[in-house]
Amino acid sequence: MERETEQPALLRDAAPTPQALRRQVRQWRSQGLRVALTPTMGALHRGHLSLLEEAAQRADRIVASIFVNPTQFGPNEDFDSYPRDTARDAALLAEAGCDLLYLPSVAAMYPPGFSTEVRVTGLTEKLCGASRPGHFDGVAQVVSKLLIQAEADVAIFGQKDWQQLAVIRRLARDLDIPTEIVGAPTVREPDGLALSSRNAYLTAEERAAAPTLHAALQEAAAAIRAGAPAAESCATARDRLQAAGFGPIDYVEALDGETLEPLSDPATGRLFAAARLGKARLIDNISIAN
Ligand code: AMP
Repeated sequence: MERETEQPALLRDAAPTPQALRRQVRQWRSQGLRVALTPTMGALHRGHLSLLEEAAQRADRIVASIFVNPTQFGPNEDFDSYPRDTARDAALLAEAGCDLLYLPSVAAMYPPGFSTEVRVTGLTEKLCGASRPGHFDGVAQVVSKLLIQAEADVAIFGQKDWQQLAVIRRLARDLDIPTEIVGAPTVREPDGLALSSRNAYLTAEERAAAPTLHAALQEAAAAIRAGAPAAESCATARDRLQAAGFGPIDYVEALDGETLEPLSDPATGRLFAAARLGKARLIDNISIAN
């Protein structure tokens, strides 16, 4: 008993299975309440909490999920070392107005004999899809499951993972999943660094260099707006990242923001970058137009 009272309220209410999640969401919806889902991998920061703020604008009840999805990590990636602190996360979620924490186990998500893949073609073959083979297959698989399990009216994802958002919009459309998909703006540190759970991997020296990622994209966007060729501006950004200690640099590219096809009109264009800094692989993207 004593133990239970020490748990953050949301952990006591957490739904551990798809059935428990769906039962609660169906009950709310049967009362005419709108439900929002905000999927995360935990190690929460203000970026995640901004998704809950967006959710509160659009729904009466907020479900947050925490699931570090093994199928979206490559064999040499950081699945085992990914930061996990569920009690802290639950306390932050409760403060942010979350009504239900969905906390499934790997066994509940992928029971023995699980054999279904979800692959979004085209969109997933460039940018992070090229440098992290299989990553978006894992993302598409787990997000399809979360959307189908929750039956929420709306689901909120961060624009920080712009390509992921595009993949999720596409799979929801293609698979007739009726949940509305909403993208929320990137939350940044005052020096421009996009908040990320992986920023925790940075040493003090790397943390000081990290804002160069955003600064280099901003500089490239300004150059393109002033008429410089996109390829040349991206090459300059790469050089700047290299000089700041980033490496390897997976990509710096200008693409159409909607289709992720080669840039045709800077007005709808976006700049994307991914590069390693020490143990962290950092990604960012910004609009070229402003
Ligand atoms: P993650 O826990 O990294 O899988 O992220 C969960 C959700 O939070 C995803 O939809 C991310 O795009 C979103 N997110 C992560 N970082 C930020 C940020 N700095 N600003 C806004 N959304 C974010």
